[in-house]
Amino acid sequence: MKCALLLTGLFLAACSNPTPSENTETVQEHTKIAKIKLYALECGYVNMLDLGLFASNGAFDGRTNNAISSCYLIRHPNGDLLWDTGLPDALHAAKDGITNGPFHLSVPNTLSGQLESLGVSAQDIEYLSLSHTHFDHAGNAGQYAASTFIVHESELAHMFRDEARADAQQFPAYSALEKSEKITFTDNHDVFGDGTVEILSMPGHTPGHTVLKLELANAGTILLTGDLYHLYESRTLRTVPVFNTDEPETLRSMDAFEALAKETNARVIIQHSVKDFEALPKAPRYLD
Ligand SMILES: [Zn+2]
Ligand SMILES: [Zn+2]
Repeated sequence: MKCALLLTGLFLAACSNPTPSENTETVQEHTKIAKIKLYALECGYVNMLDLGLFASNGAFDGRTNNAISSCYLIRHPNGDLLWDTGLPDALHAAKDGITNGPFHLSVPNTLSGQLESLGVSAQDIEYLSLSHTHFDHAGNAGQYAASTFIVHESELAHMFRDEARADAQQFPAYSALEKSEKITFTDNHDVFGDGTVEILSMPGHTPGHTVLKLELANAGTILLTGDLYHLYESRTLRTVPVFNTDEPETLRSMDAFEALAKETNARVIIQHSVKDFEALPKAPRYLD
């Protein structure tokens, strides 16, 4: 029998007595998933001098932690998406880095330099999206203002509120995005319309915090956490940073994330984890 839904590959069980030719057709449809490439880019290092700030229940008090700021270039046949922009490239000039409050920050390799090595200029990148607009994710965002900015409506309001505009350290890094072409959303956004690259609303760290879900042809489902978690322990202990905008909302996002990770058998990449970053192929190599 023929079944229109067979082509989606999702409702095979609903179609009884498939002939061998129909089985072949289904397999071919599965292989038609768009081939996307995930490039992991090193976008600076953050030494957390007071890890206690990252657990409201005191679980991390008295500790420090070395973290990475990672950025990702996703190359889809229909365009490129830059996910997060890390610490400002300008910090590269400070060879030993700088100490800023509870953080020591350094940028041994610039984002622009790494993209250049891949033969990609800012003008080539169709889409920019940020997990959220903290300084270690939006540090170079203004350099990609020519890209279409995909942003959660709540994050857009948050990043351009009066208090944010008054922040002379952070605001200039992304202020140019105010004039960017934008795609806004409130729940989830399917970037290329084929389910391979989806931005998912997981608020609480900031009002419009998001994570990225990728469907890679060989590597399967990948989830990039943004700052839903900073450490492996944040995930196992469900710790919430003291500076999150909404703790109960963060915990609900963690629940949603874990259900999704289980359902899709995803590889979870904690974006600030040096270990998770080191486990990825280094550009120009990529995960596909
Ligand atoms: Zn953050
Ligand atoms: Zn962060």
